[in-house]
Amino acid sequence: MGRLLITGGTGYIGSHAAVVLSKIGHDVVLYDNLSNSSRCVLENLNLIVGRQIPFVKGDVRDTELLISTLSAQGIDAVIHFAGLKAVGESVEQPVKYYGNNVQGSISLLQAMQAVQVKTLVFSSSATVYGEPQYLPLDERHPIRATNPYGRSKLYVEQMLSDVVSADAAWRIACLRYFNPVGAHESGLIGERPNGVPNNLMPYIIQVAAGQRPYLNVFGNDYSSTDGTGVRDYIHVMDLADGHAAALDFLDKTSGWHAINLGTGKGYSVLEVIKACEKATGRKVPYKIAARRAGDVAACYADPAKASERLNWTAKRSLDDMCHSSWRFQQKNRLRVTP
Ligand code: NAD
Ligand code: UDP
Repeated sequence: MGRLLITGGTGYIGSHAAVVLSKIGHDVVLYDNLSNSSRCVLENLNLIVGRQIPFVKGDVRDTELLISTLSAQGIDAVIHFAGLKAVGESVEQPVKYYGNNVQGSISLLQAMQAVQVKTLVFSSSATVYGEPQYLPLDERHPIRATNPYGRSKLYVEQMLSDVVSADAAWRIACLRYFNPVGAHESGLIGERPNGVPNNLMPYIIQVAAGQRPYLNVFGNDYSSTDGTGVRDYIHVMDLADGHAAALDFLDKTSGWHAINLGTGKGYSVLEVIKACEKATGRKVPYKIAARRAGDVAACYADPAKASERLNWTAKRSLDDMCHSSWRFQQKNRLRVTP
């Protein structure tokens, strides 16, 4: 079992990955600048795993700090979650996004190269597929991101592929996440949206909690069974398991690999509302609103490659996703910013 550096380790997905990887015996070190997370996450993580997880407060653009951390901690592999992820903000502030996501990744590669650590798992996104030309989306689907956030992921993926072409000692997995939702079963860690949630699940949960009066359903005239948008929601703990599987895979394989992490099943907005009503025992009022700009009708994964290569499939149901999101909300009585 190796020693892992997790950049963005106090964030939503990174913290769940830290739990899974610690529980299966990896020594993990978290590295985060706390721009979108807080030290409280660390305390809760320590409670869940029953020991102190080492933490370094730092920015991935600080190459020197990364080099000293990688060597002082004796790191064998890196999982790179650190980055910014709000699509709308990326359209308004592209330089901020390319700086954080692309420059940050270059800095990480420079540091890894300096200390000869050459195993990397990168957080990519299904957004690199752009508008689906066919469904389900497999990894051979053309790549065409439609906003700066998506392009930042795409550029990093391509850069990582070049790195492997230049030096066959590298082992890199780009994991293309579909729609991560849910929380750890303890309710101690989960997603803490900043301001008005952009994403469906946190918004529904706030409506169920009475913190917002109703949900706007963005469009009911898509060509799905009930007309609302369809997505591949994946439980964040399944996603975390996928990272453990990717590390095992990279232990045995070199090269560059792009792999979808999704369930393969799409749910409509109305189906998610219904599942959340059942899980919370609360009504989720909604109004049909106009389509949201840039939204696609449906997006779901072909998860066959992950199953074949990583020996991983998502196990948790939509009910599990709603239950755990609700437990996190209830346990933390998350404050809402208007
Ligand atoms: P998050 O914002 O909760 O976590 C990201 C963490 O990275 C935060 O703790 C933040 O403080 C940290 N960070 C940001 N910039 C940094 C920098 N320059 N240096 C050091 N730390 C920095 O987001 P998340 O949902 O956990 O996403 C993790 C990764 O997965 C991101 O790269 C994101 O683009 C990708 N991803 C997320 C989703 C999703 O829906 N959540 C979907 C696909 C891909
Ligand atoms: N959605 C919605 N109301 C909201 C937020 C999202 O109807 O307040 C819909 C959205 O149009 C899409 C689905 O829910 O069909 C998932 O949206 P989300 O932003 O969570 O994920 P993404 O669109 O980025 O895949």
